Amino acid sequence: MKIEFYGAAKSVTGSCHILKINNKNILLDCGLYQGKDEQERGNEVFNFDPKKIDYIILSHSHIDHSGRIPYLYKKGFKGEVLCTEATKELCKIMLPDSGYIQESEIEWKNRKRIRQGLETIEPLYTSKIAQLSLYLFKDYKYDEIIEVFDGFKIRFRDAGHLLGSAIIEMYIKEDYDEEIKVVYTGDLGNINKPIINDPEFINYADYLIMETTYGDRLHGNIDWSLKELVNIIKETFDKGGNVVIPSFSVGRTQEILYALNKYVETKQLNDLTVFVDSPLASEATVVYESMSEYFDEEAKKLIKIGDDPLKFKGLVFTNSPGDSAQINKIQKGAVIISASGMCEAGRVKHHLKHNLWRKECSVVFVGYQAEGTLGRAISSGNKKVKIFGEQVAVNASIYNLDGLSGHADQKGLMNWVEHLMVKPKEIYLVHGSDTAMTTFKELLDSKGYKSRIVDVAEKVYINEKIKLNDENVKYRIMKVLNSIDDIENMSKEHLMKQIEDAIKPQIKK
Ligand SMILES: [Zn+2]
Repeated sequence: MKIEFYGAAKSVTGSCHILKINNKNILLDCGLYQGKDEQERGNEVFNFDPKKIDYIILSHSHIDHSGRIPYLYKKGFKGEVLCTEATKELCKIMLPDSGYIQESEIEWKNRKRIRQGLETIEPLYTSKIAQLSLYLFKDYKYDEIIEVFDGFKIRFRDAGHLLGSAIIEMYIKEDYDEEIKVVYTGDLGNINKPIINDPEFINYADYLIMETTYGDRLHGNIDWSLKELVNIIKETFDKGGNVVIPSFSVGRTQEILYALNKYVETKQLNDLTVFVDSPLASEATVVYESMSEYFDEEAKKLIKIGDDPLKFKGLVFTNSPGDSAQINKIQKGAVIISASGMCEAGRVKHHLKHNLWRKECSVVFVGYQAEGTLGRAISSGNKKVKIFGEQVAVNASIYNLDGLSGHADQKGLMNWVEHLMVKPKEIYLVHGSDTAMTTFKELLDSKGYKSRIVDVAEKVYINEKIKLNDENVKYRIMKVLNSIDDIENMSKEHLMKQIEDAIKPQIKK
């Protein structure tokens, strides 16, 4: 088999890797480049023929993993997109929204081009095309083994990063004497996140493709971060200001609502008006409420006792642009949660323009801010920023609550790797900045793991025959253990017999 790394190779966005197995082409994710990556690499060109892609295995619905699927469809892709149930439901709202954003941006650019006497340009894809591409999606439950085609089976495991997010286990059998297992982490979640489960641990992987977003950093504690958020809200209200939270509409917004619900209902926060000012966030909240079977135990318990953990007194969803503009008139006592999370587009830019220059206000960052974005400029301490072509002074208090991050930090990533019971033969590092990847690679090296930071368009061939030698016996044992569902109720003799059978060829040698 061959793996070719394209997107998120030496970058954080645009996840896209190709597997070539038994003459079939499979994409692992097909995401949009965003921010600096978009400017440098562009989204228009695929380095492969979209018509020749047979399957996309989608790890989760975030646009940097899914956002180029409609464009691939527009360019002739007619295969299947395999993902979890919640990923499909979230893609149903996120991809058309992404198409709508592209249409609006191009409309704006075209107005300028017409004035300059230039030809108009087309959006990458429209909302309509995104909707059509959804017909290619097939959804599956976590943990079920899916036979995609002869010699290729996959299984989605909970990645704990976003509702529906998955680690992908792939069992590949070409003309080897043994099946090999390749695991793709997608994005790995932070532990103890509100609403969703922690990432599942995987027993073994022959080869691992791994994200490294926070490979060089440690997050603050999540509970501490939430308490800090409560303090920031109280202090800002006492000063007579508003709190603006730039947040991804899907995932982070619902996690913050869940946390605020708890503080409002236990009366730790009173007389609060929380605006969720993003139509996509409102829709995503409805999808979340309909998918509660994938919530963690704590959230399920709340539902059982009759609480809707994503609704509370004082919460207002604003959908029309008119309602959104009304928020700008509010001087104090409002928490405004709005997209986009990195402040590159959307309504949050208006809220920043109205609140950033006021020293009594606060802006709270709760997620990753990529290089080159407005969010990065504000969160890293710039004293002036440009919004809608206007210089705005940054006088508000700026906070970075990285404990609320959706990604595992360095400790979380390492802990996850160390739960693999046998070291993979090689780990391919993707989805991270240069420093994040280099730092994490050094850590892996120091612990005896073999890893590689892969480059754009780098190809890796995995075609050695797996021989049964000393090194390999432990793999066979792991595979036996992994294949038994109910190990506790199996007799010791039976288990020993199975292991003995698995390693017999070795004994014969
Ligand atoms: Zn993600």
